[in-house]
Amino acid sequence: MREFDVVVVGSLNLDLVTRTTRLPGPGETVIGASYAEFPGGKGLNQAVAAARAGASVALVGAVGDDHAGTRLRAVAADEGIDVTHLATIDGQPTGRAIISVDDSGENSIIVVPGANARTAPADLPVGRVVVAQLEIPLTTVTEAFRMARGRGATTVLNPAPASALPTALLANCDVVVPNEHEVELLGGADRLLDAGVSQIVVTRGGAGVDVITRAPSLHLDAFPVDPVDTTGAGDAFCGALSSRLAAGDPLLTAVHFAAAAGALATTKPGAVPSQPYRSDIETMAASRPTIG
Ligand code: ADP
Repeated sequence: MREFDVVVVGSLNLDLVTRTTRLPGPGETVIGASYAEFPGGKGLNQAVAAARAGASVALVGAVGDDHAGTRLRAVAADEGIDVTHLATIDGQPTGRAIISVDDSGENSIIVVPGANARTAPADLPVGRVVVAQLEIPLTTVTEAFRMARGRGATTVLNPAPASALPTALLANCDVVVPNEHEVELLGGADRLLDAGVSQIVVTRGGAGVDVITRAPSLHLDAFPVDPVDTTGAGDAFCGALSSRLAAGDPLLTAVHFAAAAGALATTKPGAVPSQPYRSDIETMAASRPTIG
């Protein structure tokens, strides 16, 4: 059986974005100024991030039998991502995020999980690193990590959106990568250490990254950039981190590379289009010595 560097178990969404002068109230209709569709979902974003960072990647997920599913499958395949384990669920819509943004930047978002809610780890492909997020059922992530650990893979959990994590899942996580809000909602890094997670990497946007293990914690500053859109920075970080862990880098070296990827992702708009490529990440990573 083929072994991938990184197996991503996660969501795929089509983001439908309308712009309007002001958001409608209940029962109200407003005329929008523009409309556009973007590929998204944390699973797809992180798969693209890992592939562009240099890894061979398989994406385990589910789309519906509609045009959005066909389109998202093509987006992944065009990035060289293996989609053999991307299921098509009859009678379900592909996941959608329906996003309205007003002139002041305020937004309202409805996420319809659709086929993502049917994601199953049934025949998990073999990967050195298996990475998942929480836009698919917790039971699926728990089962995927149990299988992955059983085969000796490294598991990376990005607990987004934050949700209470069952002990059975935490027991099979090697690395947990929350952002600063998610780590608080999970009760703090110490609680994760107590639950058996050995490595916690807290991303703090422009304030950098904390690496928390049983050894004293370490802080890495963010790479200095002029951000234009921070959407997808966390996904760039997780995908790039997974690709370097799969290549055998020690955690701190992988975090250094991932922080460079996260910084680069903020310099372009969008989530999928802003994912940086390996050579650019390496150039930024080399601008500063690795710590540790
Ligand atoms: P999320 O998108 O999940 O909230 P963060 O905003 O913490 O994740 O971003 C992930 C990582 O991307 C950060 O730890 C940092 O390395 C990098 N990053 C994000 N925002 C910036 C920024 N403004 N400047 C430099 N690096 C950034």
